[in-house]
Amino acid sequence: MTRAQRPKRSPTPTSATFPPAEMLPPKPLSPTTVTPPKPLYLSSPFVEAALVNGNFKTIVMLPKYVDIMEWVAVNSGCVSSVFDFYTNLNEFYGVIAECCNQQSCPKMSAGPALNYTWISQDRKSVHLAAPTYIDYVMTWVQNLLDDDNTFPTKAGQEFPQSFPSTVKHIYRQLLRVFAHIYHSHYHQILHLRSEPHFNSLFAHFLAFGREYELLEVKDVKGSSSAPVGIGQLWEAWQQMGKLEG
Ligand SMILES: [Zn+2]
Repeated sequence: MTRAQRPKRSPTPTSATFPPAEMLPPKPLSPTTVTPPKPLYLSSPFVEAALVNGNFKTIVMLPKYVDIMEWVAVNSGCVSSVFDFYTNLNEFYGVIAECCNQQSCPKMSAGPALNYTWISQDRKSVHLAAPTYIDYVMTWVQNLLDDDNTFPTKAGQEFPQSFPSTVKHIYRQLLRVFAHIYHSHYHQILHLRSEPHFNSLFAHFLAFGREYELLEVKDVKGSSSAPVGIGQLWEAWQQMGKLEG
């Protein structure tokens, strides 16, 4: 596997890239109901946009005759997948980054009542603006991927004992970046007509995470008082038979 450099954030799109708000798909008018409007990413046709036919589990299943440890830990499994998920997500974030700034996203939001906090070096939980939070995540993951002691690249080099927990930790933080983009920037993904690719990337991320136990259900769904927006998306895809429970 060749280690590509962390992709540079794409040149920030000009405002011409994003049509003004009135060109957005119309919001449902619901003055008589107290239920908040359904997020676009849960609405047809976006919820099923370009997900592969059949079930994502088939994509992440072990190829026959491949040793589970090799598949999960060595070149064909976790390392390259985590690397690919990170690289693709970073590219998506790069193109919407102009719209994710201190003013638009003063908190790392992922649901109507959910803002993630960052654990600072002195172990305090702090609120960061979403672009700052995401920059910290992406820099931290890039540094881990570049670190030969964490992600060995040489044949025969042993994986550290902490490898499974490191990968789980990375997965959890990348999930938060997905959650913020779906919650706060899905309309920009739609303007770019990237929802088929973004949905597919996220569905693959979820399927791989569940298959290899890198994802906690509570991280995807959140708590009942502070649900994660994408928890409902996950459930919708389960109901459509695209993802396993
Ligand atoms: Zn944002």
